[in-house]
Amino acid sequence: MSLTKQDVLNMAKEANVKFIRLQFTDIFGIPKNVAIPVDQLGKALDGELMFDGSSIEGFVRIEESDQYLRPDPNTFTVFPWRPRDGSVARLICDVYTPDEEPFAGCPRCTLQKVLKEAEEMGYSVNVGPEAEFFLFHTDESGRPTTITHDQGGYFDLSPVDLGENARRDMVMTLQEMGFEIEASHHEVAVGQHEIDFKYDEALATADKLITFKFVVRTIAQRHGLHATFMPKPIFGINGSGMHTHQSLFKNGENIFYDPNGPRQMSEEAYHYIGGILQHAPAFTAITNPTVNSYKRLVPGYEAPVYLAWSEKNRSPLIRIPARRGVGTRVEVRSPDPSANPYLALAVMIKAGLDGIKNKTQAPAPVDKNIYDLTEKQREELKIASLPGSLKEALNELENNVLIREALGTHTFNRFITAKRIEYQDYEMKVHQWELDNYLAKF
Ligand code: GLU
Ligand code: MG
Ligand code: MG
Repeated sequence: MSLTKQDVLNMAKEANVKFIRLQFTDIFGIPKNVAIPVDQLGKALDGELMFDGSSIEGFVRIEESDQYLRPDPNTFTVFPWRPRDGSVARLICDVYTPDEEPFAGCPRCTLQKVLKEAEEMGYSVNVGPEAEFFLFHTDESGRPTTITHDQGGYFDLSPVDLGENARRDMVMTLQEMGFEIEASHHEVAVGQHEIDFKYDEALATADKLITFKFVVRTIAQRHGLHATFMPKPIFGINGSGMHTHQSLFKNGENIFYDPNGPRQMSEEAYHYIGGILQHAPAFTAITNPTVNSYKRLVPGYEAPVYLAWSEKNRSPLIRIPARRGVGTRVEVRSPDPSANPYLALAVMIKAGLDGIKNKTQAPAPVDKNIYDLTEKQREELKIASLPGSLKEALNELENNVLIREALGTHTFNRFITAKRIEYQDYEMKVHQWELDNYLAKF
């Protein structure tokens, strides 16, 4: 699909759109937007709309704050939940500098840079994500709680699954916005859900993830519920992951598939796995960017902890789903939905492409439940672990030249600085656990 300026103007007219929201994200993937009346749409599509970026996280300082928004016409969507008469639409934008350069702190531009590199190698990149989330009740003042009255489990049906109405509404809204929904189901934990949409080219998928999270939260709210993509809201039960299925295509063919290769996988597939495993410790700060992310990456809850791959087991970082042919793909299981989708895809794809360029060898697969192995057995099998905290992850990130290159120095530095402050704040605060364990005892 490739829409022109005129297509968008026509579509806006047809849908009787009165306002357009121009969206972009900061380096943490938090969506921002400016609303413009429809008579400004032509100007906006010409990239002539300027805004002051100085107060956006990861953007520029006061004295150099002018930014231009360049909307991508392909992202035009009407918000189905807004009034039909005088409706609201949105366009996702790239952020440009006054010198007409992609702005170094624009995550969407960062992803495009990596995809350009893939393109130069002859590849287009397909990505299919599985973003899990929880639905919780809010209290009297509308603040989210961690209370769920739902007693459902994996694939359960109503009446146990009270979130089912909300979820159905989410699916229908997403479909109206052009998503092809493949499945939606109750996840393993109480109150936990998953809605899967069809894979797409990497940039479109990252855009969809931003929209997806926004729609899920908006619709939940309309059902009096709070949807959260926080990775581990409740101790002792599964957290929420964002497994990311990735494959490379060349001339319409999936190049991870080789009917004559071991396990019917190509050399490129093995090297891509090698690259992901090599750089995973460094890209984890990006794919798992919160203090809370590391409370999900612990043994026993279907989230990965170890740097390994498997065709069968769900405990390693990478799983190769059984599908072959056009569906041959690498599923990276560590990312969580608190990640900025643009940056998360950029660093993973960069790592995989690096594996292909350098013919990085993938280790042998580990088809055992790694959670059950002792430390000694893991050492013998040379299975290392993912970083155990945001602090460790930032140290790994800081020392990785390839991931720095993927992010660009501007985003790399700002991300690390902001996240170090976040970690320090967490470290210094007194948490409930300390009160529970020490207050009465000492
Ligand atoms: N919720 C699990 C995670 O944290 C994943 C469960 C599944 O396999 O879908 O990654
Ligand atoms: Mg799942
Ligand atoms: Mg999965």
